[in-house]
Amino acid sequence: METNKNTHILIQQYLEGELDEKAMHELEKQALDDPFLADAIEGYSATDVPAGTSLSFLQRQLAERIAQQQENKNVFYFTWQRISVAAAGCLLFIAASILFWMKSQPKDGNPAVKEKQVDVNLNAFNDQRMDPHSFSLPSQAVVSHLDLDINVDFTSQIISGKAAWTIDNLSKTDTIVFDTRQLDIQKVTLGDGYEQTSFKLGEETPFLGKSLKVAIKPSTRKVTIWYKTGKAADALQWLNPAQTAGKRYPFLFTQSQAILARTWIPCQDSPGIRFTYNATVSVPPALMALMSAENPEKRSEDGKYHFKQPYAIPSYLMALAVGDIRFKPIDRRTGVYAEPVTLDKAAWEFADMGKMVGAAEKLYGPYQWERYDVLVLPPSFPFGGMENPMLTFATPTVIAGDRSLVSLIAHELAHSWSGNLVTNVTWNDFWLNEGFTTYFERRIVEAVYGKQEAEMQEMLGFDLLKEAVTEIGANNQDTELKGHYEGRDPDEGVSDIPYEKGYAFLKVIEKEVGRARFDAFLKEYFNNHKFRSVSTDEFISYLEEHLAGKEPGLKDKIKLSEWIFKPGIPGNAVQPVSARFNAIDNIVSSWKGKINPAGLKGKITSANELLYFIKALPDNTTSADMALIDKEFGFTSSGNSELQFAWYLLAIRKQYKPAYPRIEEFLIAVGRRKFILPLYQEMVKTGAGKIWAEKIYKKARPNYHPVTFRSVDDLFNKEV
Ligand SMILES: [Zn+2]
Repeated sequence: METNKNTHILIQQYLEGELDEKAMHELEKQALDDPFLADAIEGYSATDVPAGTSLSFLQRQLAERIAQQQENKNVFYFTWQRISVAAAGCLLFIAASILFWMKSQPKDGNPAVKEKQVDVNLNAFNDQRMDPHSFSLPSQAVVSHLDLDINVDFTSQIISGKAAWTIDNLSKTDTIVFDTRQLDIQKVTLGDGYEQTSFKLGEETPFLGKSLKVAIKPSTRKVTIWYKTGKAADALQWLNPAQTAGKRYPFLFTQSQAILARTWIPCQDSPGIRFTYNATVSVPPALMALMSAENPEKRSEDGKYHFKQPYAIPSYLMALAVGDIRFKPIDRRTGVYAEPVTLDKAAWEFADMGKMVGAAEKLYGPYQWERYDVLVLPPSFPFGGMENPMLTFATPTVIAGDRSLVSLIAHELAHSWSGNLVTNVTWNDFWLNEGFTTYFERRIVEAVYGKQEAEMQEMLGFDLLKEAVTEIGANNQDTELKGHYEGRDPDEGVSDIPYEKGYAFLKVIEKEVGRARFDAFLKEYFNNHKFRSVSTDEFISYLEEHLAGKEPGLKDKIKLSEWIFKPGIPGNAVQPVSARFNAIDNIVSSWKGKINPAGLKGKITSANELLYFIKALPDNTTSADMALIDKEFGFTSSGNSELQFAWYLLAIRKQYKPAYPRIEEFLIAVGRRKFILPLYQEMVKTGAGKIWAEKIYKKARPNYHPVTFRSVDDLFNKEV
């Protein structure tokens, strides 16, 4: 939005002394008569990081409201004259009331600002949460920086220490609200002198945990919370040595997305709130600690590590891993961390990472996070990857031995733009993270591995979308892009919809406006919103202004509202085509009912083709047919986790018993939910399968992350 940009530029120029003297005086003179402007200038100087790189959702909202207030008061003579009035009147009252409260506190070094009485009632605003999945009230008091000092104890499996938050008490309120879950809060203090203050934990709410209300003063800038994590903190997975690849040392890793950061750090746990952080982490000296920050390349002798994340990130990107970890560089800004036994394999598998970063930059502008490293975790990691800034966490199931699954790295890397740089403001806007990332991922794959590879992935993705819509229901609101996760755990709402329907929608826009224009638009969108959180509505306004505004009728042509706010797949979806997959379809249909896979190994070669082949097998494929196919391709003993998954799913369905021992091994060794859950779902469909599933699950459950075993528990509970 232009409004924001101009406001921020002017304020930033003022703060950095870049305005000439006349303009500066002009601005200050106006500030003398206008507390709103004074606050706009001061509000930004209060944070230690440059404006524009770290504005939180709230700060932006505030800036907009200030701008709108200025417009109404008509006090601006230059750039801000162009500011448009968009928000409702109540927002003006809110802005006025917040600013009035802000003014009630004298500030050092500020020109004497006349106080203005604003007769507004704050009460209506007091209880308004900006995010249905966070108790915090950032419009009143919001965090801007974290100094974390923690000790990681493997014996008790507890993290303890203190989280010192720098805050902005925007409304000069007497309470700041944090999110906690499964945390033991010991004490809370204010300021650098650690003056003890009172606090109150709210009632336990399913999956949201408890609010932590801390008494503060209007002048409070620092709130320090002393705490311990609970025994079964959901974000933490403590692995015993047997659960690691190396089998010698224990391992710990965190998974904070979507709303689990609050189980290991008391925080304002909303993707709309951003903060920078420094951390000191003490671990057993034999182990190395890594975070979503600037990381060490070597183990420290005393087990103490210092981290710095200079860019403002939301809480779900807080991450920590501790274990017997080594580093291997790939090029000057990319590298791999892994357990020693995995390190060389991982470095070989991910050798193209530098090329990928280069390709991504060429598409959508500079990589903003300095280094891009990948940490390969032990197999129980529940996801494919987690885009923790500067350090992607990845499952070892992408190490296929032939670089065939590295598109996962392209996906996590793409999140460095869509997700980490420009973030969904609530989990209802999740498609803004994942749809854009899926689009970007396939563009990186196309640039590095060619068009045919990207086309195959696109087609597999479109199949996933159709399957998801069939499964969830074409009229079910869970197939709308804009999510409805209020009152639900956002982790449970995860399906292929935000990823693949989001992708399909962006593909429609690309087709309509042409790739060159769409690329320019996306590049500008990322640049314009960097280090900010964005809502679906803001995206729509931006699109209206920068793309649709220049082409009347575009919104209707692309069926924007239908894609975002209606269920199912709109009629104008672009049907992907792949010549290689067509060739496989021809082979399968030529069988005319009698499967004949002999000699196909030389014709169907790449991992995606093999995957498509398994999915394209006719419905009446029998267990005997599978034995023939296995003889040709050896799918049962494959090392490619995607192929294993597709083949094992079919094996369960067709009761192809020779694959059963490998299925059992796979379910015990791997904890990635995307694979695990559907396999159990298929097993419990028959009586014998259910008994088998329960037997395996008993052995496998201790190796799974809570994100995974919770989903599988639900499945078994439903089946009882
Ligand atoms: Zn993603």
